[in-house]
Amino acid sequence: MTVVTRFAPSPTGRLHVGNLRTALHNWLLAKHAGGQFLLRIDDTDAERSREEYVEAIRADLAWLGVHPDGEERQSARFALYETEFARLAEQGRVYRCYETPQELELKRKVLLGRGLPPIYDRAALTLTDADHAEKAAAGEKPHWRFLLDRDAPIEWQDGVRGPQHFEPAQMSDPVIRRADGSWLYMLPSVIDDIAMGITDVLRGEDHVSNTATQMQMFTALGAGPPRFAHEALLVGSEGKLSKRLGSLGIDTLRETGVEPAALVALLARLGTSDPVDASLDAEALAASFDLSHFGRAPARFDEEDLHRINAAVVHAMPYSEAAARLPEGMDEAAWQAIRPNLAHLGEAAEWWQVVTGPVDTPQFDDDTRAFLAQAADVLGGLAWGNEVWRDMTGKLKEGTGRKGKALFQPLRQALTGRDHGPEMASLLLLIGRDEALARLKAAAA
Ligand code: GLU
Repeated sequence: MTVVTRFAPSPTGRLHVGNLRTALHNWLLAKHAGGQFLLRIDDTDAERSREEYVEAIRADLAWLGVHPDGEERQSARFALYETEFARLAEQGRVYRCYETPQELELKRKVLLGRGLPPIYDRAALTLTDADHAEKAAAGEKPHWRFLLDRDAPIEWQDGVRGPQHFEPAQMSDPVIRRADGSWLYMLPSVIDDIAMGITDVLRGEDHVSNTATQMQMFTALGAGPPRFAHEALLVGSEGKLSKRLGSLGIDTLRETGVEPAALVALLARLGTSDPVDASLDAEALAASFDLSHFGRAPARFDEEDLHRINAAVVHAMPYSEAAARLPEGMDEAAWQAIRPNLAHLGEAAEWWQVVTGPVDTPQFDDDTRAFLAQAADVLGGLAWGNEVWRDMTGKLKEGTGRKGKALFQPLRQALTGRDHGPEMASLLLLIGRDEALARLKAAAA
């Protein structure tokens, strides 16, 4: 059987890392099985849905490298929802209610006050045709609930959480449609999952109780439910649901230099028992993707981890991939020399500036200036080539008795204006003979 998964965001805001992880996991789940991954835009809420967010969702997924095999929009599917809703109405599985939010709240309070679970009492089920007619005449419009089958316990084998059991008698019949005719999330999602042939629904554990309700909707609509899996939610590094995570999206990550490959490598494995491995590409991550490796403990998202993985991704990035984003003139040799020093690719420009100059050197003391003058002499007399740094420092060590930091640090400072950085052997070659001599002489003056 082929696998079809979907990612179903509501375009009411930007995606955050939690959503991105869900999207990625659904994509990997499908990819693992050679199946299909669909994007479903849940835009039934016309007031809160915005086109700019739809576009941002597409762009964010594309940036991650997550490419849907198809896209659907709920706002284009209202006719289908009407038809399916009519089928449920015929079966008596949906019913009209008129309670105001205040009345419902009062009922809840009364039940809670008596120590009872706040389950909707189904009072509206007792309304007669005459009652409905009277409400209609008075201009009262009903909202609709789905009638749970209280005699049919709800069970499923959850891909992450294992066997699940819910007693519908302990659940309220969910409101599925508002008095203005608009849809709540619950029913359209089931109708679409059936129509789109979704075989696997993988989403956050905040949806577990929705799933319980939706299981009966699948049955009522004459369909077998898909496999369900609910992953533990993401928490911040401090172990708590964090506000920052709820708003941390691709724009911010991108600005701090995060590569899509790093984000994918981390998010793919977050919450699983598999180690995060910066060297794995999407194919490898899909091949090893396995729901049984997911744990039930909250998954910790640590931005420091992300930056560490990012550095590993940059250190391994081939020139061909980096080239378009590197400063003008920076060639493959320069990339190879500089890349081990980068936490993110954007820093390449700073090091390229060090290579091309000018550099700011510190004010050296007399002794060091004499040493740097000597260095310029030595360098001037050497054959230029791959070993020139080794040769120069070897000669200077012999000639001056300097070693270690006393030998290397002034040279690095004079040649690069920095205390740390890429291998001097490579940097010196990139700086070039004339420029290196000029820098040593300037520092010695
Ligand atoms: N639009 C829903 C959400 O964003 C979809 C949930 C789902 O069925 O995956 O929560």
